[in-house]
Amino acid sequence: MNNELILSFIPTVVYYLSVFGVEIYTKISKTKNSFYKENKNRVSRSKAFLTVLITLLLQIPTNYFLFLYFFSTTEFRFYYIFLGIFLIDTVEYFCHRLYHTVPWLYKNAHKVHHEMVVPYTYGALYNSALESIITSSAMLLGFYYFNFNFLEYIVTISLSYFCTVCDHAYLFQNKIGFHCIHHEINSNKNFQQPFFTFYDKLFGTYQESYVSQLPRRASFA
Ligand SMILES: [Zn+2]
Ligand SMILES: [Zn+2]
Repeated sequence: MNNELILSFIPTVVYYLSVFGVEIYTKISKTKNSFYKENKNRVSRSKAFLTVLITLLLQIPTNYFLFLYFFSTTEFRFYYIFLGIFLIDTVEYFCHRLYHTVPWLYKNAHKVHHEMVVPYTYGALYNSALESIITSSAMLLGFYYFNFNFLEYIVTISLSYFCTVCDHAYLFQNKIGFHCIHHEINSNKNFQQPFFTFYDKLFGTYQESYVSQLPRRASFA
């Protein structure tokens, strides 16, 4: 097996290792602070799991295809990882905001992700095919424009998978995380993901919420 074929597996492996690690962490630290009970969810855990699994398995040959025909052959540039992080957060913020602004896009592309009112780690990439295609195409155009090489792409995507798994978990005591607020409390806030929050702060869509500030009817699982 050549190196690039092995690298094509890495984002998928990182996703499930992250799921495993974060699940263990939340079990040990008992940090489940959800606003709602999980029966609010409109998709079963098994359907979300299978959908994500299929998406991530399909990504392996797609990555290799992209290596063969898409990415540059430059030397690895460490600073490109920071550029990749900025690129992913930029695409995510503006695509995500657009999904919530244009009703047709919400209904046909993004609504599926919000079937998880109470998110969980392995559902982090539970998206409709249309959303996956739009967001991934926008990111790939960015990677192509900036002349990323294959390893830079794999490292950036793998880091984003680790962060998106963390985004869909309840990692803190007495606090619902930034992206879980978007799922559970106010879907018109907190669009940026998976790394930072500066676009939300810049454009007035940032909401930080602690459990103690939530309405009394809050029911903590
Ligand atoms: Zn989400
Ligand atoms: Zn959303």
